[in-house]
Amino acid sequence: MAKRKCSFCGLSEDNVSMLIVGIDACICSDCAERVYEAVSGAINYQTSGAAPKKRRQSSKTSTIPKPGEIKKFLDQYVIGQDDAKKYLSVAVYNHYKRIDQNINTDDVEIEKSNIVMVGETGTGKTLLARSIAKMLNVPFTIVDATVLTEAGYVGEDVESILSRLLQAADYNVQAAERGIVFIDEIDKIARKGDNPSITRDVSGEGVQQGLLKLLEGSLVNVPPRGGRKHPEQQFIVVNTKNILFICGGAFNDIDKIISRRLNSQSMGYKAVKEKELINKENILQYVIPSDLKSFGLIPEIIGRLPILTYLLPLNRDALYKILTEPKNAITRQYVRLFEMDGIKLEFENEVLDYIVDKALEYKLGARGLRAIFETIMVDIMYESPSDNQKELYVTLQYAKDRIEKLTSKLRVA
Ligand code: ADP
Repeated sequence: MAKRKCSFCGLSEDNVSMLIVGIDACICSDCAERVYEAVSGAINYQTSGAAPKKRRQSSKTSTIPKPGEIKKFLDQYVIGQDDAKKYLSVAVYNHYKRIDQNINTDDVEIEKSNIVMVGETGTGKTLLARSIAKMLNVPFTIVDATVLTEAGYVGEDVESILSRLLQAADYNVQAAERGIVFIDEIDKIARKGDNPSITRDVSGEGVQQGLLKLLEGSLVNVPPRGGRKHPEQQFIVVNTKNILFICGGAFNDIDKIISRRLNSQSMGYKAVKEKELINKENILQYVIPSDLKSFGLIPEIIGRLPILTYLLPLNRDALYKILTEPKNAITRQYVRLFEMDGIKLEFENEVLDYIVDKALEYKLGARGLRAIFETIMVDIMYESPSDNQKELYVTLQYAKDRIEKLTSKLRVA
């Protein structure tokens, strides 16, 4: 006889602790629990006050690191960006407290604290999200919003986001349901123009609409291996209620929207005084939700991303620190690589300044530091393992020669 399967997640009876058999369908104990949670949550919401009896949760508030501890942890990996770190630490702390609240019979429903970070590319948005996931030891995935399209069009369905989270959680649905998803390039799904009636905006507003249900928390049918949904496929039901969504985007030219708003607000004597205090260099710090709306995110999405924070462009000082200070700073990584071959690697101090200069000159930000470093080091890394040298000292002249050799090659090409 064919093995019976859970009609919700598709696992066979051998792979679940209990299978409840109905007339035309079966449900495993795990899916039953999730359905119970979702239904009791919904009833509670409707009758507001009749708090459901919730089942145990794996983490208690006492085990969640406090916001100060989260920030300290982030400081080890991410240079600067203090405001973003603070916002993230508080949001993550509240998020996990909110999950724990399920064990009480509280009648105050704490809303989800999904986050949106605005900042130029290469300023540390992904690094922040990744570091938080590392600290909390929860499944974490990064998805690029540009590959998503509205259901039925070429591209990926929004549900594929959850397929990846499931993969990151080794298909442990309960773990995935407490995971963190980083949606990169959220700005690229902004509404295209104000009048989308002529052609359907399938990779813009259409995707935003699709994301809504994931962000607010609902039961979603997820194709376990990703890809398009099709009728014969088995789905895994994932409840997104406790999944933390962190979105990031460069929002190019949003500074103009912010400046325009600040300017139009600034009239009269009081405004002149306020205007003087505005730091024109780092205009992103004044971002507010209505700027995201002007940029092209729909109000419903903005409402589901209640924590809005920003990352500042990295200046010379920050770039230098990125080279040397974080736990896995690039210089430390090279020193370690050579150590493994029994070689002591050192740099003339000016080499690091030179690398920072070049990164600024090429406008590559932090992303460029590694590429420049690699160009300088590649010959040494090729030759040194066979040279039997015990010490290597990289001078400024050597670094300059390497970079100039490459740029002259580029000029000839
Ligand atoms: P974003 O997501 O903002 O485009 P990333 O977080 O992917 O940028 O950063 C790219 C790389 O640059 C990271 O791997 C990291 O090495 C480095 N980096 C960027 N910003 C910082 C920062 N503030 N502190 C430390 N390293 C950083």
